[in-house]
Amino acid sequence: MQVFTYNPTRPDFQDLAGAFAHKTDRELRQAYLLYRLIQNPLLMKTLTTAGQLAVHLHLPVKNLIKHTVYKQFCGGESLTEVMEVVDKLDDEHVYTVLDYAAEAEETEEGFEQALNHILNNIAIARHSHGIGAISIKMSALGHRSIMEKLVIDRNALSQEEEISYDLTCRRLDTICEYAADANVSIYIDAEESWIQEPIDALTEQMMERYNRRQCIVFNTLQMYRADRLNYLEELLERAREKGFISGIKLVRGAYWEKERDRAHAMRYASPVYPTKEKTDESFNKAVVMCLERLPHLHLCLATHNQESIQLVVREVSRRKLEKLRTHLHFSQLYGMSDNLTFALAKAGFNTSKYLPYGEVDKALPYLIRRAEENTAIAGQMSRELQLLQEELKRRKLVS
Ligand SMILES: Cc1cc2nc3c(=O)[nH]c(=O)nc-3n(C[C@H](O)[C@H](O)[C@H](O)COP(=O)(O)OP(=O)(O)OC[C@H]3O[C@@H](n4cnc5c(N)ncnc54)[C@H](O)[C@@H]3O)c2cc1C
Repeated sequence: MQVFTYNPTRPDFQDLAGAFAHKTDRELRQAYLLYRLIQNPLLMKTLTTAGQLAVHLHLPVKNLIKHTVYKQFCGGESLTEVMEVVDKLDDEHVYTVLDYAAEAEETEEGFEQALNHILNNIAIARHSHGIGAISIKMSALGHRSIMEKLVIDRNALSQEEEISYDLTCRRLDTICEYAADANVSIYIDAEESWIQEPIDALTEQMMERYNRRQCIVFNTLQMYRADRLNYLEELLERAREKGFISGIKLVRGAYWEKERDRAHAMRYASPVYPTKEKTDESFNKAVVMCLERLPHLHLCLATHNQESIQLVVREVSRRKLEKLRTHLHFSQLYGMSDNLTFALAKAGFNTSKYLPYGEVDKALPYLIRRAEENTAIAGQMSRELQLLQEELKRRKLVS
């Protein structure tokens, strides 16, 4: 994991000149127009459906997507394109979490291809100052249906499924072993609750194996889930007993509506909190719980929520944790919340951008998720728009 020399100061989240320094006037205008578009749910729904259909029918829309929404949220189609973005971020002391966004085909061949991409990314990260970590999705390495079955009953797997799951476990182990050797961190994304249990179990096994002297493997905890504070407490206790370092990435959670709708349709109790306030409370409690035990864990705050970030900054200062700041990381998605990312980096905190890359058509599901998340993060979208508007005004590009 790459860490930068500290010059601890209070981050200035209103420093728009700093936040958008990397954007030309044209790029700024484009970003503004895009966020205006994303704010209109009906238009967005129509456009995403039309986009999917057009790509499916091989209509020539790839370039249009590439130069608009893709450019805002993704690093490039090839690693050569990506490295230009990585270097730009590195110049601002922001490191990259590289994320191969192409969602894998659900075949053993597709999973092997994803594995090779990830191993290649680790090899590149090993020699690149700007890439500090790689993010992975377990559903890119194995069948979701098998993970879903495992949540219900481990003995329910057929012989063929057992073999396939064994391959999934081995793929993850290969990645973590290679990453440990290269000293590159692996962030394992959290997914839907109905496949998460085996992901947690496997991730913990990897932490136990590879997080002995350094923190290589991070699990992601979605704090919108009502059971996660308990899970966090138990995980930290198991880590203490077994003597490994916990790598914890805290998020609020990306699938709130999907979780709630599925629970409603299938008539089981919703695993996610019913209100945003409850999610915020749970996220902030988890932050404090982790900060209390910071010497024994590494914490990644993956959020665009300014209040949560300010809470951490305050607590670090109040608890005099400055010396442990190498254990603390902040992360935002590429194309979002630049005012937070660049201000945190400028103030000397380890800060990264999650940078998805991959062929435009294969990254489409990722882009559609960004657009669909819109309802759950409506406040965030209008904040983005407001910041862009203020910067356009500051540059005198609009009156
Ligand atoms: C670097 C990075 C990595 C990420 N990795 C993952 C990952 O691995 N897995 C994953 O699931 N997500 C991931 N996310 C997405 C994340 O979970 C959030 O969806 C997103 O960041 C918005 O939350 P926030 O804390 O940034 O902002 P906020 O705008 O403060 O919070 C919005 C979030 O609050 C929650 N919420 C909204 N409305 C309600 C409601 N009515 N009741 C209860 N809760 C509500 C939802 O979780 C929603 O996404 C990642 C985000 C970042 C920045």
